Amino acid sequence: EQDPNSEKVTADMVDALAVKHFPACQYNLWRRLKRDRHLKHYGRLQFGLFLKALGLPLDEALVYWRRGYGQTMSDDKFNKEYKYNIRHSYGQEGKRTNYPAKSCQQILTGAQPGAQDSHGCPYRHFAPEQLQQLLVEAYPVIQVGSLELREVMDSVKKTHYHVACTRVFELTHPGNVKKGEGIGGGNMVNHPNEYYNKSLEYEK
Ligand code: SF4
Repeated sequence: EQDPNSEKVTADMVDALAVKHFPACQYNLWRRLKRDRHLKHYGRLQFGLFLKALGLPLDEALVYWRRGYGQTMSDDKFNKEYKYNIRHSYGQEGKRTNYPAKSCQQILTGAQPGAQDSHGCPYRHFAPEQLQQLLVEAYPVIQVGSLELREVMDSVKKTHYHVACTRVFELTHPGNVKKGEGIGGGNMVNHPNEYYNKSLEYEK
């Protein structure tokens, strides 16, 4: 089996990968950074570690985040306050810990997002209306008022967030997995990077 991370990921590739392969939590962080040119602390952490785990190297991460903040931040501020944190999350500063990306369990049970935050799991932390908007934007095969969307929302109502996310994976990979097969072999989504890796693998 080919390692999905064997190719170097560059800052320029992130947008295309987001549209094709990101689970709802990371898609939301990606679009919020694009829209607001800003992410709060936990959002930066959740998204930054996800990007690291999918193979974005440190030099490209610095390019990506610098561009992400755009004109809202001076180079000086970026270099003084943000660059260190990015390098830190890659284990290049401080205790040099190589922090792993957060699993679904950690995201679901970790710090609850406040009104200005964009981290967390949308299936768990969004209001139903807001979640539906995100899903139809992120995954065009899921349409407003469709049976499929209702099915996903039913799982959310039952607090089966992994089931909802897994069902969305199935719906967006119809040539690869059937209903009940999850991300493959009946496995459920347990980690955003697993979702991403499987999605990428099926594309090849
Ligand atoms: Fe992300 Fe996991 Fe929630 Fe899916 S279930 S949106 S991968 S945290």
